[in-house]
Amino acid sequence: MDLDNTFYKNVLDSLYDGVYFVDSQRRITYWNKGAEAIAGFTAEEVVGRHCWDNILRHVDNDDNELCFGLCPLAATIQDGDQREVEVYLHHKDGRRLPVVVRTAPVRDDDGNIIGAVEVFNDNSARLATAQRLKELEQLALLDPLTQLANRRYLEMSLNLRFDEMRRYDWSFGVLFIDADNFKRINDIYGHDIGDEVLRMIGNTFMNNARSSDIVGRWGGEEFVSIMRNVDEESMYVLAERFRLLIAESRLPVWPMTIRVTVSIGATLAQADDSVETLLKRADRLLYQSKHAGRNRVSMYLEE
Ligand code: GH3
Ligand code: MG
Ligand code: MG
Repeated sequence: MDLDNTFYKNVLDSLYDGVYFVDSQRRITYWNKGAEAIAGFTAEEVVGRHCWDNILRHVDNDDNELCFGLCPLAATIQDGDQREVEVYLHHKDGRRLPVVVRTAPVRDDDGNIIGAVEVFNDNSARLATAQRLKELEQLALLDPLTQLANRRYLEMSLNLRFDEMRRYDWSFGVLFIDADNFKRINDIYGHDIGDEVLRMIGNTFMNNARSSDIVGRWGGEEFVSIMRNVDEESMYVLAERFRLLIAESRLPVWPMTIRVTVSIGATLAQADDSVETLLKRADRLLYQSKHAGRNRVSMYLEE
């Protein structure tokens, strides 16, 4: 692939994913901005070097160095098959970083393999979620319908966050989230479809939460998110993103698609809050969103 073409370069550079190309000798010929951001190395530092020059030092779960023998890029160059593996690469600053790696062959016009491309993304959030799910399942802290944390887990986490706030002054906030007019969805489509919609909402939360945040099902069609490291502005942005993502979701139920919206009450924990006062304020803010017409986020109480 001719990457002198500025258009393609710009497209690749605007991706969030890390993308790099190697030739048949596994010499790195291209390294995009996403790769720089994820791995810490600049294009200048890696282009022209071999991927087995021990820069990235991919290792698998058993600490096998993949650059010697088990390299997915080498295998793809050899057999032309695409691969997807979860490995760890070494960030420039020495960290071990979980990534999902996808490889595909690059061919010339005659179909001969002349190199390969590797696309990789940071896998930390996904790993954290998978790990958390496993733990929750074992401890009966998982909501069986949505596979989110259940109310018991949320209550435990809230107590922990308060403890941290008092000890270390770490701020946190909560979102109280309630599906709008959910009774009507059940009435029109039936309870089973209603359950599907709840699962869709849960998946949207799970896939879009930051790895440091928790989203759980509080009960019924109500969800709570506990967000660490937020101030009013960033919490509002995150709450708005949830709201919009739900409003933009569609559950296809042939021959229709079902849409749903949520109303959100968002508030930061204060020094003199308890779990009860915090949730009560979030609930009042949620009610304010409902009262104002639903499908919105409220963060300031109107007296
Ligand atoms: P609002 O916008 O004011 O929140 O209206 P709403 O209809 O969502 O509010 P309401 O609290 O009156 O109704 C909640 C509905 O959610 C009623 C209940 O049957 C339904 N619901 C609660 N839990 C579940 C569940 O697990 N599955 C399904 N399918 N429905 C549920
Ligand atoms: Mg409700
Ligand atoms: Mg509701």
